[in-house]
Amino acid sequence: MVSVWLQRPPAAAACLLLCCLAGGLAAPDPQQREALIRREASMQTGGRLQLSDAEQRLDAALFQMKQKEMGRADFPPAMHFFKARPLIRTSPVFDLLRKMPKGGALHVHDFAMVDVEWLVKNATYRPHCYMCSTDKRSVRFVFSSRLPEALPRCSPWTLLENLRAKMVNTTDLDNSIMGNMTLFTNQDPDMLYPSQDVVWDRFEQAFAALWGLVTYAPVFRDYYYQGLTQFYTDNVMYLELRALLPQTYELDGSTHDTAWTLKTYQEVTRQFTADHPSFFGARIIFTIQRRVNASVMASAVEEAMKLQRDFPDVMAGFDLVGREDKGRPLWYFRDALSLPAEKGVTLPFFFHAGETNLQGTDVDQNLLDALLFNTSRIGHGFALLRHPLAKELSRKRGVALEVCPISNQVLKLVSDMRNHPAAALMSENHPLVISSDDPAMFGASGLSYDFYEAFVGFGGMTSHLGSLKELAMNSIRYSSLTTKQQEIAVALWQRRWDEFVSENAF
Ligand SMILES: [Zn+2]
Repeated sequence: MVSVWLQRPPAAAACLLLCCLAGGLAAPDPQQREALIRREASMQTGGRLQLSDAEQRLDAALFQMKQKEMGRADFPPAMHFFKARPLIRTSPVFDLLRKMPKGGALHVHDFAMVDVEWLVKNATYRPHCYMCSTDKRSVRFVFSSRLPEALPRCSPWTLLENLRAKMVNTTDLDNSIMGNMTLFTNQDPDMLYPSQDVVWDRFEQAFAALWGLVTYAPVFRDYYYQGLTQFYTDNVMYLELRALLPQTYELDGSTHDTAWTLKTYQEVTRQFTADHPSFFGARIIFTIQRRVNASVMASAVEEAMKLQRDFPDVMAGFDLVGREDKGRPLWYFRDALSLPAEKGVTLPFFFHAGETNLQGTDVDQNLLDALLFNTSRIGHGFALLRHPLAKELSRKRGVALEVCPISNQVLKLVSDMRNHPAAALMSENHPLVISSDDPAMFGASGLSYDFYEAFVGFGGMTSHLGSLKELAMNSIRYSSLTTKQQEIAVALWQRRWDEFVSENAF
């Protein structure tokens, strides 16, 4: 059972089989059937990898675990992640996935890396932290050495240390703050977020709520270090972070510019790598909101080109963020996005595209347009199956999709993970990586939860240890690292992989 997919029939034999099938006159031959099954299994992600003896033993154990998982009446990938999370946490498959060296996380956003509990327990407990409540039942924060100016449509500012000093128990307050900074809830998520509009509105409110905390320079630094810690603890060795590079501020109201923010990412990454030598590093994809107008976009592209020139080690490229369905399509920005090519400047693009189910709209053209602008990877690509030409180009050019299963489910593109389009893409080894988008917003962390959904939900009984190995290797192969850096990263990952296999194969 385990090694069925390892043996691939020679091409000539497969052709013969298909020729026989085409005739359709003879009764099916069980041996031919077996050969066809093997051939099809070999087409999937990792289907052609040869596993060592130890890997085959681990794969056999994994197969048993997955079989039990698939037999459950409450099968986690069929459920909303918020309900499935406690079940996943007790899953032996998940336990193994957490230990597994997963390579890099290539699609993660700057302010959704860290558990909101850390933000509440750490950031909001610092001195000089003010909070107000908006008329949309959200909250805003600012650190200031004196009473800040009132915000429109927000209550008067309250100094949190004074508020907490008056309370016997601060748990309710802390929980309520936490609830404002994540979509995760113990209530029924489908009742609370009945439509894409509602869930996206709450999603944007949550970012607005934590904005004043994470853009305070001392918190910004610590938040990023904590984010790297969470990914590292989840056995992720490399990160490509989509970052807005906002202006950050100090207690006296003075501010730092975009270059300071990028430089701080660079310094903190260096510090983290020095503290954790088995962590490979991180690079930044500079992002801007897709709702801006054409001239703001042109300035952002100019700035990105400058940053790319000044910080070539840390800058990976450029992307647009925000809800695709409500934002402007890539084609609207064609003049701004053509600037690098016109000036002969290299600025790699990593466009979000196809994070939609609105087929045939202007936004739905983003997939082809992203490829037209020579995107290096595609963020999500959820709509790819409905664009055969974009799919073919993505495969031929090796433009990998960054598939973020939990994000797609929480933001209501798919409900049952078994129906996610990437299940079909994995079955034919389309270039893709698994990532987590905004894990803190979804009550996840690191990459393991998304790997679980992909491995168990997309892969069913078909995916195996080879699939996981290929997905991890893909995350280095399709990263923005140079060929030389990739060789070093793969060697580092391989060592950790071999340790993982020998520690878990019995
Ligand atoms: Zn994203």
